[in-house]
Amino acid sequence: MGRVYNFSAGPAVLPEEVLREAADEMLDYKGCGMSVMEMSHRSKVFDDIIKEAEQDLRDLMNIPDNYKVLFLQGGASQQFSAIPMNLMKNGVADYIVTGQWAKKAYQEASRYGKAVKIASSEDKTFSYIPDCSDLPIDEDADYVYICENNTIYGTKYKKLPNTKGKTLVADVSSCFLSEPHDVEKYGVIYGGVQKNVGPAGVVIVIIREDLIRDDVMEGTPTMLKYKTQADKDSLYNTPPCYGIYICGKVFKWLKKQGGLQAMKEYNEKKAKILYDFLDESEMFKGTVVKEDRSLMNVPFVTGDKELDAKFVAEAEANGFVNLKGHRTVGGMRASIYNAMPIEGVEKLVEFMKKFEAENK
Ligand SMILES: *Cc1c(COP(=O)(O)O)cnc(C)c1O
Repeated sequence: MGRVYNFSAGPAVLPEEVLREAADEMLDYKGCGMSVMEMSHRSKVFDDIIKEAEQDLRDLMNIPDNYKVLFLQGGASQQFSAIPMNLMKNGVADYIVTGQWAKKAYQEASRYGKAVKIASSEDKTFSYIPDCSDLPIDEDADYVYICENNTIYGTKYKKLPNTKGKTLVADVSSCFLSEPHDVEKYGVIYGGVQKNVGPAGVVIVIIREDLIRDDVMEGTPTMLKYKTQADKDSLYNTPPCYGIYICGKVFKWLKKQGGLQAMKEYNEKKAKILYDFLDESEMFKGTVVKEDRSLMNVPFVTGDKELDAKFVAEAEANGFVNLKGHRTVGGMRASIYNAMPIEGVEKLVEFMKKFEAENK
């Protein structure tokens, strides 16, 4: 078997073209006689890599000049602490809890100040996005926090919450670059790249400059201060060089695909194939309310655990891998990120139809 169709939620599929290019450059990056893994992060060669990556990301997302782009480590989870430590000035923050990742961020923030859960969809296993048009936003809230696309449950905000003028902070790990983001609507927009952008080990933080302060919470580690990282253009210490290099390649690949609007249309087309089938199938059912469906993560079930397991096993034997759902939802989940080609989804649906016919 050659390459499989990989529906993993993360680390996840990357564009084949990017992997081939990286393979070609593995032993000798552009004539410098070594791989990007082996070179100094202070070298001119690497400086060009990180600067070009930042510029390409700025072009793709239309990032305004008063926002900094940081390439950091520690994953999205470390931001769960960095955000309250850097942003809680009044010691209060509002959290909308729409899944496990938002819940973890909320719990972590509670360690540093007053984190208030102002809305939640936990009552129905996070299968919808709560109405966020008129939330009880705290007058003293330093920010309102969301997880924009819920990787585990497969929901996505189709409209950003009304924060009543408060700074919006969003974890976009699983919808990063899947469609245009209106950066100006956020104070901080961040994501681990291993879902839709690159290899594990890099988290990208896009932050409005006025939120980068010196007077952060007492005890904040130097490394977790956005100011430390911003002042040194992400080179305060050794950054995840190779990961940044691959992200840079993915940014170029996205530009070649026509940018984020083109990506959005492609992703909508892809997701529709799967959702249309789920809506008509007698055996497979989607698990979230239609209006809030994610374009990236598509959970579904048969309603019968044994049949689910049989499906996952047979799918794998046929080259459709990592379809097992998250342990808290059960069933299946197909993550169909940017790099999943439309043929992958078409063939998966074909396979599901066949499975359904054979297992009536
Ligand atoms: C995967 C994921 C995380 C956790 O990312 P790590 O990089 O493993 O810390 C956080 N938020 C969302 C939305 C995710 O999908």
